[in-house]
Amino acid sequence: MIIRDRYAPSPTGLQHIGGIRTALFNYLFARSVQGGKFILRLEDTDRTRFDESYVQNLYDTFEWLGLAWDEGPAFENRSFSAGGGQFGPYIQSERTHHYKKYAQELLDKGQAYYCFCSAQRIDEVRRQREASHSSETGYDRFCRNIDPQEAAKKAASGEACTVRLKIPLGEATLFNDHLLGGIEWKNDDVNPDPVLLKSDGFPTYHLANVVDDHLMEVTHVLRAQEWLASTPLHVIMYRAFGWTPPEFCHLPMVMGQDGKKLSKRHGATSIDEFRKQGYLPAALLNYVALLGASYEEGKDIYTLDELAQRFSLEKLNKAPAVFDYKKLEWYNGQYIRMMSDDELAQQCLPYAADAGLFSGEKEEAAKQMDTFTRAIPLVKERLVFLNEVPEKIAYLFKEPQLPAAEEFIPKKSDLAKTIELLQIGKELVCALAEAPDDGHAESLIKAEAEKRDVKLGDLMMPLRVAVTGSRVSPPLFGSLRILGADCSAERVQKALEKLKLQSEDKTGCK
Ligand code: GLU
Repeated sequence: MIIRDRYAPSPTGLQHIGGIRTALFNYLFARSVQGGKFILRLEDTDRTRFDESYVQNLYDTFEWLGLAWDEGPAFENRSFSAGGGQFGPYIQSERTHHYKKYAQELLDKGQAYYCFCSAQRIDEVRRQREASHSSETGYDRFCRNIDPQEAAKKAASGEACTVRLKIPLGEATLFNDHLLGGIEWKNDDVNPDPVLLKSDGFPTYHLANVVDDHLMEVTHVLRAQEWLASTPLHVIMYRAFGWTPPEFCHLPMVMGQDGKKLSKRHGATSIDEFRKQGYLPAALLNYVALLGASYEEGKDIYTLDELAQRFSLEKLNKAPAVFDYKKLEWYNGQYIRMMSDDELAQQCLPYAADAGLFSGEKEEAAKQMDTFTRAIPLVKERLVFLNEVPEKIAYLFKEPQLPAAEEFIPKKSDLAKTIELLQIGKELVCALAEAPDDGHAESLIKAEAEKRDVKLGDLMMPLRVAVTGSRVSPPLFGSLRILGADCSAERVQKALEKLKLQSEDKTGCK
């Protein structure tokens, strides 16, 4: 079977995890069969909530994630180059002629009618219902029985009007959902005669969505469960047009770990935030693909192609998916370690530049870049987020501020002994910085520790703090090699002076 599916966001907010999960499932489903097509459609007919920046955010997100859609109108004169390459997405605000035509078709068939009710009247009905504690909601079908010819004349004369769907009352609407099974709604409980075409000539979501899914020959609608309540209405419209509805699959919600719908309260939700935090797109996609779907027991890491090969609607879970930030962090770490050092350096470069790491003179640029590429392997093993890099390696670019003397002192030691330890460190530091690799450096310092009868850890600690400014740092020997003998020795000397000064202060010898 040829699958044609779509992601159809409304640009009324930033792209977030839930939306991207819908996009990804559609993408994978289309790619799970030969000839499948994944469509991107911008549902931008709600002009009051439209914001161009959200459109840009959609393209940026697709580009960053590397998700490409498969067809669309020519993509010219646009200020972005999104993942779709030569195709643009379908944009509903550019397709209003279709919706007008199909609204007219329903009017002609007697399945829709003109409504001349003003916003004030509708408001008044609502107020009256409230006052009388009526449980009725929605439109009161006031214009449903106006003579169609008379209504058409009024509309043609320019009187403000909308077009409403005439929901057949006293019947039930049935449809099947892949995950939820057969669903039956009494038509009397469906949103009463919803507007299809607004008075500004723009369609509502319902009309544009159904018309486009039909015109674009969409075979499967995979969308968030919050749209389930609209589906009976859509099925009624398909029937009114005489069209076959697509297959529906409403995806389970994405929850936080407290069982509530995932929201800002739980942490980052917009893809932008994840990008800024230093997540890798591949890690995010891998994790999101598993939100509510199970593939192979015991396998966590999948490429997009592997996911597409395995994806099927049968793999989707009915139960809500729980978003686990810790698990996503784990994925990010895994993907970081799967990258080559060069690739990782490339990925981290924008974060380093943004953090102002390369603020030196032009002549220093090459040296700084060399420092940067050599620093990456030092931090790679423990890295969780790309944006941690600048802070972790800043001491390689700028002399760190030395912490208080206490920070230099190993456990069960004191200031006087620490000064001795650092003195040994000073004598060793050039040899360590010039050692060809960690192995050589380690045997040098070990031999010295044995000779002087001090613990290796005690010898390393003050040296580490002197050179990196902190007790916790990337590996010391690698850092010394990057800084070089002169710079390393200079830092140790400064630290020694600081400790000695402190010691004199304490003993009152000054
Ligand atoms: N425009 C709707 C949204 O913003 C799309 C719903 C659907 O996929 O049918 O999510």
